[in-house]
Amino acid sequence: MENLVKGTKVLVVDAAHPDGAELAEAAQVLRSGGLVAFPTETVYGLGANALDGQAVARIFAAKGRPQDNPLIVHVADREAVSQVAAVVPPKAQQLMERFWPGPLTLVLPKTPEVPEEVTCGLQSVGIRMPSHPVARALIRAAGVPVAAPSANLSGRPSPTSAEHVIEDLAGRVDVILDGGETGVGVESTVLDMTVDPPVLLRPGGVTVEQLTAEIGPVNLDKAMAGAAPGEKPRSPGMKYKHYAPKAPLILVDGPVLAMQAKIRDLSYEYREEGRRVGIMCCAESRGAYQADVILEYGSRAQPETLACDLFATLRAFDRHQVDVILAEGVSTAGIGLAVMNRLMRAAAGRVVHV
Ligand code: AMP
Ligand code: MG
Repeated sequence: MENLVKGTKVLVVDAAHPDGAELAEAAQVLRSGGLVAFPTETVYGLGANALDGQAVARIFAAKGRPQDNPLIVHVADREAVSQVAAVVPPKAQQLMERFWPGPLTLVLPKTPEVPEEVTCGLQSVGIRMPSHPVARALIRAAGVPVAAPSANLSGRPSPTSAEHVIEDLAGRVDVILDGGETGVGVESTVLDMTVDPPVLLRPGGVTVEQLTAEIGPVNLDKAMAGAAPGEKPRSPGMKYKHYAPKAPLILVDGPVLAMQAKIRDLSYEYREEGRRVGIMCCAESRGAYQADVILEYGSRAQPETLACDLFATLRAFDRHQVDVILAEGVSTAGIGLAVMNRLMRAAAGRVVHV
């Protein structure tokens, strides 16, 4: 099935059997230097041939992405790693065996073949092997490694459905492959393997607990939460405005009952001022609030559901046209660390600890 939106081809693919003419067409677009958005198990990615500097430069233009924020290179198999990584230390090898294909990006020294447009001049490159059948089939059919950041306009919440990609990028890219909703919902974990112990640059789909169980200690990048003023981030992407819905978001964090009380107080105050208030909470808290719009984003008892619905919920507040969003914090255990990292950054410093 094919559909043209503002000049961008939207091709529907069957995620269970991604082998049709749509996939071959998208692969051809990649090979000839074009841009293709495609589903992965984390969020939708915006891909270009990673070995073609000019094609990669188009990604930055389409997204409005800052020029110093490097891209992750996606590969379909382990053999392709040696084309882009100059060295693969034993711990990196071990992590690939355990977590690939899956939501883990490893930063390794790059080969000369990787153009500077991908790494923004860094001598290292982030590499991952996605597990989504459409992503894998596309990369394999293209026959080249695929550089791909999230397929959103820079600064907006990452896309977890083709509709989100169309909202942000229709008219700015060649093809959008619609393979349904993504699964994990937050981006990959980024781990710097050029140092030992490795450093966590971004929490994501693979948890710190899973990493340390496999390879021992992992250091957390101090600037990771974006909360350390003056600290130079090692992962350039961490310093930019991110995941922002249109209305300002205030993150309230602390023990559940105190958090709920604070959100109730703030909601009351803002509504007294005539502002339209949105509350973003987990299912367990739904009954604790009154506001103009209350959106649940999963259950505290199953933190993966929080990750899965996080970005779609942030985008939904735009449609409800609220003036301010009050968001509940969650535990940072497991995938919760990635959820809190995205909420902190969506809040851009507006965090209330109770
Ligand atoms: P995105 O493509 O939007 O998922 O963002 C990719 C993330 O990976 C950004 O936070 C980048 O800063 C980070 N990243 C990619 N390549 C490298 C690298 N070579 N060194 C450090 N961080 C990287
Ligand atoms: Mg992104």
